[in-house]
Amino acid sequence: MNDTALDRFLRYAKIDTQSADDATTYPSTAKQLDLLKLLVEELNGLGLKDVTMDEHGYVMATLPENLPPDHPARGRVPAIGFIAHVDTSPSASGKDVKPQVFEYRGGDIALSGDPNLIIRASENPALLENLGKTIVTSDGTTLLGADDKAGIAIIMTAAQTLLANPALLHGDIRICFTPDEEVGAGTKYFDMQKFNARFAYTVDGNRLGELNQETFSANQAIIMVHGRSIHPGTAKGIMVNSIRAMGDIIIRLPKDVAPEATEGYEPFIHPHALEGAEARSTLKILLRDFRTPGLKVLQDKLEEIVAEVRALHPQTKIELQIKEQYRNMKDHMGSDQRVLDRLWEAALRSGLEPRWKPIRGGTDGSRLTERGLPCPNIFTGGQNFHGATEWLSVHGMEKSVETAVHLVQVWVEKSS
Ligand SMILES: [Zn+2]
Repeated sequence: MNDTALDRFLRYAKIDTQSADDATTYPSTAKQLDLLKLLVEELNGLGLKDVTMDEHGYVMATLPENLPPDHPARGRVPAIGFIAHVDTSPSASGKDVKPQVFEYRGGDIALSGDPNLIIRASENPALLENLGKTIVTSDGTTLLGADDKAGIAIIMTAAQTLLANPALLHGDIRICFTPDEEVGAGTKYFDMQKFNARFAYTVDGNRLGELNQETFSANQAIIMVHGRSIHPGTAKGIMVNSIRAMGDIIIRLPKDVAPEATEGYEPFIHPHALEGAEARSTLKILLRDFRTPGLKVLQDKLEEIVAEVRALHPQTKIELQIKEQYRNMKDHMGSDQRVLDRLWEAALRSGLEPRWKPIRGGTDGSRLTERGLPCPNIFTGGQNFHGATEWLSVHGMEKSVETAVHLVQVWVEKSS
């Protein structure tokens, strides 16, 4: 049971846990349960308490407070949660992952399984921090799954460290491993009452030292163009081809307000899925802005485009539908700064130069924070998520374990 974070990560990475979009079951794929069941066994093996898996697959466990009876903080330390997700992104295969563990010696990294795939030093500034250190990649035919199996390995290793060293004092610690985060459903059946933590941290971030308390606010827009289909041989004056109207919509989407042209706090409108035939075409679009009211500005832009194209194609029917997805974590973080300050302090104690970085995406923590469980995010050392060039810094992963172990102790010290 004295596994390192790397041992654990390699064990979890080999289990296919890819989730699926538009599934009718929960979890979206049954294979996620393979890892969830293993984690139940391992949590029990380590000696955690209240280890459960519910009917949706959520695994929870407790590491009970270990303060001596006369400790001034006893009974006063809020319960702290740690959360990671077992599933990997549907955007790249997660089957038969073959992790490559090696020392990074500088330069670009060629992946043996696909000669076209190169992890370029110029596009990966974090590589330089790992010169002479161990990193992990896939062989290029699959993603690696550091998102978020590194997070799971970090939480498990932190739990093992605390259990093995009773002198490291902590309050009640709650652990949860969730399915289906990558398909936006990681908190759909998350039982807040059962979890019963006052604050929590997702371990689902990137580069060493990066901490996150801000995410995008997110809506999805769906534009549906209805036309009329008929055999093209007899179509004159009758056919209304929805594809042509959709083309006029796509050409009008702003090219400078796009993910490929923006960074930092800049918003975007991102068409990400298109389906079309004469009778009907559908375009799915992500709307993203750190300022929640900014989503309305992006929506107004789409409405303007749709109105213009309606006038050009009066025989089509064009619908624009907006679905709310998630909100910037910071909108709901509340005035209690402790959850952030303690994390910062823990990173400092781990010898890091921490920095708050806005996430150009969402986490399970975005939704949990909105539901009243403040939930910032901690780095894992993983990079290039969701694709075959994903890689993991083992040093980053180990420093994340250290940060989590310091974090629970900081909560005790500051509660005395
Ligand atoms: Zn993730």
